[in-house]
Amino acid sequence: NVRRVLARYFAIEGDPTTARIAQQLWGHAHALIDAAPADLDMAAYTQGQMDLGATVCTRTRPDCTRCPLAPDCRARIQNRQDELPTPRVRRAQPLRHCWMLIAECEGRVLLERRPDAGIWGGLWTLPQFEDTATLEAACTGLGAAEPPQALAAFDHVFTHFRLRIQPCWLRLPGAAPVPTRADQAWVPIGKLDAHGMPAPVARLLAGLYDGGLLLR
Ligand code: SF4
Repeated sequence: NVRRVLARYFAIEGDPTTARIAQQLWGHAHALIDAAPADLDMAAYTQGQMDLGATVCTRTRPDCTRCPLAPDCRARIQNRQDELPTPRVRRAQPLRHCWMLIAECEGRVLLERRPDAGIWGGLWTLPQFEDTATLEAACTGLGAAEPPQALAAFDHVFTHFRLRIQPCWLRLPGAAPVPTRADQAWVPIGKLDAHGMPAPVARLLAGLYDGGLLLR
């Protein structure tokens, strides 16, 4: 709130959340305090600035007619209240893709436990692939007679990137193959929710099985 008031009062351009602009704003703020009477009540002054930002110099439609700073406010004088402070530039998040395999056999689903370090560390998730070739190779390795069936893709947003997840469902005939890795397990569908899973994977499986779409 205080940054907004300062950015408007001094007509400072640039994103106030960046270090460079914040420094400019605090430079002005300190100059105001230096020029204030020695008996300035700092607590009341600070509270007043915050109240002004919260109630008068609001993000949209600031009420300049009620503002005690209006006579000297550069944003008001220049009629630039709507432009200031400069909105934050949001960087587009990079998009990554992955394929997740829902391999189902005898009422069980193949899950893998993630390594402790890294994204979703230590959680159980579906086997994940970076391309369709490795996905199909894995399906063949599981003894699939047919290619997996693509389900609706969806995005999951991480802090620094967006992950587009393409789920593929595969029903295997016969008995479930013995897992070749210690971090894999065929989990009965009724016990999936007993395994700690990343939220998007849990939602995907709940959507499939709680809705009874694939239960037969
Ligand atoms: S005059 Fe308007 S824009 Fe300037 S500080 Fe006051 S409310 Fe904000």
